[in-house]
Amino acid sequence: MRAASLLKTAFPIVAQYSGLGAALALRYRGAGTIFMLHSVVENGDGYPDHSLRCPAGKLADALHFLREDGVAFVSLDEMLERLKFPSGRPFAAFTFDDGFADSLTQALPVMERFGAPMTVYVATGMIERSLDAWWLALAEWIRRSDRVALPQAGLAFDCSDAAAKKRAFVAIEAAIHRDYDLLPQVRVALADEGIDCHAQLDREALTVEQLRELARHPLVTIGGHTDTHINLALAPEATACREMMSNRRFLEGIIGKPVVHFAYPFGNARACGDREAAIAHAVGFKTAVTTRSGAIFSGHLDHLYALPREVLSADDTPPSLRCKLDGVYRAFQSHLGDPVARM
Ligand SMILES: [Zn+2]
Repeated sequence: MRAASLLKTAFPIVAQYSGLGAALALRYRGAGTIFMLHSVVENGDGYPDHSLRCPAGKLADALHFLREDGVAFVSLDEMLERLKFPSGRPFAAFTFDDGFADSLTQALPVMERFGAPMTVYVATGMIERSLDAWWLALAEWIRRSDRVALPQAGLAFDCSDAAAKKRAFVAIEAAIHRDYDLLPQVRVALADEGIDCHAQLDREALTVEQLRELARHPLVTIGGHTDTHINLALAPEATACREMMSNRRFLEGIIGKPVVHFAYPFGNARACGDREAAIAHAVGFKTAVTTRSGAIFSGHLDHLYALPREVLSADDTPPSLRCKLDGVYRAFQSHLGDPVARM
C-alpha cells in the first residue's frame, strides 16, 4: 500500500480512537450531512473511476452503519424543514449525480430496503445521449489499456494493475480540470482507441422511461444538473442561465413535476461561485449543492445555494463515515476555519 493510501485509510481510525474526531465534532458536526454519489454498481472491480462507482453492497453497509448510529434519512425538502425546526436527531440526505441508469437499477433497491429518500440530479445530455462525458470515456480507455499517454502534455501512466489504473485516472482527470485545453488531445486519443462516448451513454444513462419510473417512486426527487454538464463558472452568464433553465424545463416536461433542487456540475470552487448561486436562485431552484466538504448547519438557511456534500464511496468505512458526520474533513480543509461551508 502506498503512503498516501495508507494515510487515507489510517487517518479516520486515528481520528476516532485519539479523540481528535470527537473534539472537532463539537464545532464541525452540524445538524446533518448530504452524501454525494454518482454511479452505483453491482461490483466495483475494474472501474478506474472508482470514486464515481460505489458498489451497491458498500452503499448498503453505509446505510446500515448510519441507521445504527441513529441518523434519520431525509429528502432535501425534509432537510429544509429540519433546518428551520431542529429536531436534535442528526439527518442524512443522499444524492446521486448525472442520471445513470443504475440510480434506478442498483441504488433504488438499496434505498428502498432502508426507506431512505434519494435525489437524482440529471443532466439533459445524459437522457439525450448528447453529453460529452469525457470522464467516462477516459475511464474506459484506462480500463482497457496497460499504459496510457498524452505525449503533447508530457503525461504517461502505467495502467498494468487496478491500483495503477486508479492513480492514472485521478491524475489525468485532475490535469484536465487544471487545464481544459488538454481535452482536445484526450478526445483525439479516445478516437484513436475507438472509444465511443455516445455508445457508452447508451449503456449507462437513464432512458426517458427509466427517468419517469424513477420520478414516480415516493422515495425519489429529481433535481437539475444543467443541459451539457458545463463548468458554469467558466461560461458567460447568459449561457449559465440558459443551461440551468433549459435543463429544468426539460426534466419537468418528462416527469410532470416541479424540479426545485440543483447540483452544480463538478461543484468545486473553480466550477461554481456567488454568480452561479445567484443564477440558481433566479432560475427558481430552492437549493443547490456543491462538491465542497462539510456538514449542514441551520446557518445554511442563508446559503441554500452553496450546500456542501460529503462523498460516499467504495473506500468508506465506519471510521471514515464517522469523520464525515463529524465534519472532520471540513475542519482540516478550512484550516480550522468556519464550520459552515459556503461559496
Ligand atoms: Zn455531474
